[in-house]
Amino acid sequence: MSAHIPELNIRQIYAAFNQPITLIDCGEMCAPYNSNETPFCCDICHAVPAAYAQEWKFLQKNTYLWHEWRGDECAATPTEAASLRAETPEAMLLLACLGATQCQRPYRALSCRQFPFFPYITDDFRFLGLAYEWAFEDTCWVISHLEQVSLEYRQEFTTTFDELFSRWPQEMESYAIHSEEMRSAYVEMRRRIPILHRNGGCYLLNPGSERIQRVESKKLAKHGPYQ
Ligand code: SF4
Ligand code: SF4
Repeated sequence: MSAHIPELNIRQIYAAFNQPITLIDCGEMCAPYNSNETPFCCDICHAVPAAYAQEWKFLQKNTYLWHEWRGDECAATPTEAASLRAETPEAMLLLACLGATQCQRPYRALSCRQFPFFPYITDDFRFLGLAYEWAFEDTCWVISHLEQVSLEYRQEFTTTFDELFSRWPQEMESYAIHSEEMRSAYVEMRRRIPILHRNGGCYLLNPGSERIQRVESKKLAKHGPYQ
């Protein structure tokens, strides 16, 4: 049986979560390292955006920016459509946009706004702060420059997901599972997880014990071409 999904006010959610991640345009920092000179998160060959079904309804009414992902948009490396669809949560669907040169900021999906972050949920079910999508460590410039993430962005991120989770606890569970996957990956790599804590600080979290230690964000490891 499908879990209850509350009615979401997408216009309001977008209005309340609209701050850029950093003061500088981070797309200009990563695009030079992509073979087609497109920011990695706006390149369908690197990331396929997902949106809630309610978002898709809202977007269809307001813009021609998006279409439902077909799986053939990336000519260079066709994605395994069936497996990606199978991994997509029931309440979401996969989309593709017209590309970075035709982006319409007011109609970016929630997944665009939160990228490269997701809400980190502890083993005892607390929303601790922002963790990043570790698969993008070598491509996303922001991940190597967490000190540049503005406090305003972090505040909007936290408030948006606090509100979402208070109305939709099952969505918090799906991020709890993702957080658990990150802990397992980091236990295997013998690394600690960088967290932009909801208290405004930056911490390294031990993936085994979940003990945290405050650190200076600008001293965190850099990755890929950003080293
Ligand atoms: S969020 Fe990361 S991948 Fe996306 S444009 Fe900024 S630096 Fe590039
Ligand atoms: S809507 Fe804009 S931010 Fe989102 S993937 Fe497309 S170009 Fe990037």
